[in-house]
Amino acid sequence: MMPTPHIVIVGGGAAGMFAAVNCAEMCPSCRVTVLEKGKRLLEKVKISGGGRCNVTHACFDVAELVKNYPRGQRELIAPFQHFQPRDTIAWFAQRGVRLKTEVDGRMFPTTDDSQTIIDCLVGAAQRAGVILRTQTALHAITPPTATHPTWQLSIGNPPATTTLTADIVLMATGSSTSSWQQIASLGHTIAPPIPSLFTLQIKDPRLTELAGVSVGQVELRLPDTKVKTQGALLVTHWGLSGPAVLRLSAFGAEYLHQKNYTTALIVNFLPHLSPTQLFADLQHLRTTQPKKNIAANTYQALPLRLWQRIVAYCGIADSTKWADLSNKTLQHLSVQLQQSSLPISGKSTFKEEFVSCGGVLLKELDFKTMESRVVPKLFLAGEVLHIDAVTGGFNFQAAWTTAYIAATAIQQKLNNATDIP
Ligand SMILES: Cc1cc2nc3c(=O)[nH]c(=O)nc-3n(C[C@H](O)[C@H](O)[C@H](O)COP(=O)(O)OP(=O)(O)OC[C@H]3O[C@@H](n4cnc5c(N)ncnc54)[C@H](O)[C@@H]3O)c2cc1C
Repeated sequence: MMPTPHIVIVGGGAAGMFAAVNCAEMCPSCRVTVLEKGKRLLEKVKISGGGRCNVTHACFDVAELVKNYPRGQRELIAPFQHFQPRDTIAWFAQRGVRLKTEVDGRMFPTTDDSQTIIDCLVGAAQRAGVILRTQTALHAITPPTATHPTWQLSIGNPPATTTLTADIVLMATGSSTSSWQQIASLGHTIAPPIPSLFTLQIKDPRLTELAGVSVGQVELRLPDTKVKTQGALLVTHWGLSGPAVLRLSAFGAEYLHQKNYTTALIVNFLPHLSPTQLFADLQHLRTTQPKKNIAANTYQALPLRLWQRIVAYCGIADSTKWADLSNKTLQHLSVQLQQSSLPISGKSTFKEEFVSCGGVLLKELDFKTMESRVVPKLFLAGEVLHIDAVTGGFNFQAAWTTAYIAATAIQQKLNNATDIP
């Protein structure tokens, strides 16, 4: 083993900084350097969660937790068994940062300020002796060979580049296309980046002038796929948003991209009722309130205006009474309530947290260590991987977890004297 093993972490974002602190704390005899091409470290943490940083999610059951990852669901099971939201909470608490849980499970620092997380990570890195080099981009990377047993990293601004050597390299470069190219040049395969977490553009008479109307619980489906989500729905000026849509955009990202964001969205406004129950209930209303105008009162706690749009869409005039409805019309109404097919015509960016999927293929990594299966002594963590999650703190959790696993494995690798020439 070299006298002072050198670990170079490329990328000073959430994954890179978390890995750096853990590497330096777990392996005090190592030199740990972070290379960050930007002026500042943790730029994305700063703007995350609307400036509050949604650090993680209060979901402590690994089987439930992984359901929030459209890509990475299976691979993250084992890593989460080692480092999950409970560990994130404890990790930050040990370094003086307390997190609080909001009603929907999202967790933020009690200060409601992302700077708290930045100060914690930068402070811990400095205390542990991590060398933090901002405005230092990695330009080229050469893996160890028999004649040059260390990594050669070309850094700095061309033509004034210098070469840094490293025993271990951890790439935590996020969704940077140029870094994906560098990683591809080492032999890895990169899934091309495509958007995830967006809202849907839909123009349809059933949604006319309903902007601002929300429905508590709907089920959304994409045709010819298994993609199905449940949650609240919000009608916007341009179409649909809300948790159910964002989740659908993440789980259906690849399909929607393939369809060029032009396909149908199947909406079930009453997912708690079976089709048979719904039809029987509508028949029951026809019998029990025959003289009432169908459009006068809402049905099953749906927003009144939405109910009226659906009724009108079925060709039922405003003045129609329940008694006037034939079984055929009731059937038509049931279909519109549970299988409305709305035309998606595009997507819009969701303002708070936008993420793209894409990155290093997961099968090319050992998830017990986060070490590359293609290039030894190369580790990967965070968004550089083909992992992404729905909104709610899950993306940072994946960054913390993969970084922690990598740091632990790097320390073990360095302890094993035979591994490093
Ligand atoms: C507006 C916004 C808000 C978000 N809010 C949340 C939230 O509240 N909760 C949540 O869980 N997720 C949130 N996310 C997602 C979350 O920010 C990312 O999942 C997370 O930052 C990924 O961390 P990372 O370290 O892998 O990548 P990054 O944070 O992107 O860090 C990668 C770093 O590598 C550097 N780099 C790249 N190439 C090189 C190179 N060649 N040389 C040197 N340095 C390089 C980059 O400059 C960057 O600093 C948000 C995303 C956005 C865009």
